[in-house]
Parts: sequence; C-alpha cells; structure tokens
Amino acid sequence: MQIERIVVGALATNCYLVTCNDKTIIIDPGDEGEKIIAACENKKVVGVLITHHHFDHVTALKQIEKHFGIKESTMVPGFDFEIIKTPGHTSDSLSYYFPSEKVLFSGDFLFYHSIGRTDLETGDDKEMQESLEKIKTYPDDITVYPGHGKSTTLGEEKPRFELYY
Ligand SMILES: [Zn+2]
Repeated sequence: MQIERIVVGALATNCYLVTCNDKTIIIDPGDEGEKIIAACENKKVVGVLITHHHFDHVTALKQIEKHFGIKESTMVPGFDFEIIKTPGHTSDSLSYYFPSEKVLFSGDFLFYHSIGRTDLETGDDKEMQESLEKIKTYPDDITVYPGHGKSTTLGEEKPRFELYY
C-alpha cells in the first residue's frame, strides 16, 4: 500500500491518496480539486472516503466525484479496512483502519500530540473521551495519518490521552 499526502486549502488539510494493487482511493478531498486531480494522473481512482463533513475536508468532494465518476462511500471493493466510529470532534467523525498495514486515518479525531476540538457544532467532550478509550485498545504500532499536520503512532499518543480528559 502506498500513501501520498497532499496538503490543501487555507486550513492546510491533509488529503491522502491510498494506492493498493493499482487502485487508488482519495481520503478527504478538502479543497484544491485541480491539485488532487493532477496528483491522481496515471492512477485508477475507485473511491473517496470522508472522515467527517467539515468544509475543510469536503470542499472538493463534488468536483472529485464528478471528475472520477465515483460517489462518497464507506466501503470500496479491493480495499480492506475497518470503519471505527470516533465521535467527539463531530458526531459523524470516522476513522479508517487498514489492519494489514496497521495504518489509521483519523481525520480531526486524533493528531500528533493533540486531539480535535470539541467546542464546534456536534462536538462532545464525553464522546471524545469514549472514542479515545476505544482507540486505546488498538495496537501501539499503528501509524496514524491525521487530518492536519504530521503523522504519528498510537503508541506515541496513548500516554497523552489522560491529559485531554
Ligand atoms: Zn474538522
């Protein structure tokens, strides 16, 4: 599996291209559709996943769907991943876990040395805490690819969770 990160839009959102067996999915086409489309040249784009529907994660969604003839979905044939509901930042926040590669796309749930804010619409402190408890049960050696900023590992982040409660 190959993972490419494209930083898009005014809030520097991470859009990821995940390629497996010559097929590519786009995660969070947040803005700058043309830049994402250009990065997908020579790729067979078969799906688009959204971690949550804040504007900085979906602004280019319609353009991407139209260009590639695909629809936002939570499953893509040929890609084996688990959808983990991780509300708290928003009620619709999902994390996508690829167990064979031990890779987690966390959106705005979990960042390097930080978590998503809970004071926006549909945000909830208690749900955030429950989501952190849930993700704590996953292996330490999972690489986390967040919606903003650099990557991290769950093992790096877990000891910090109590700071957020
Ligand atoms: Zn967000």
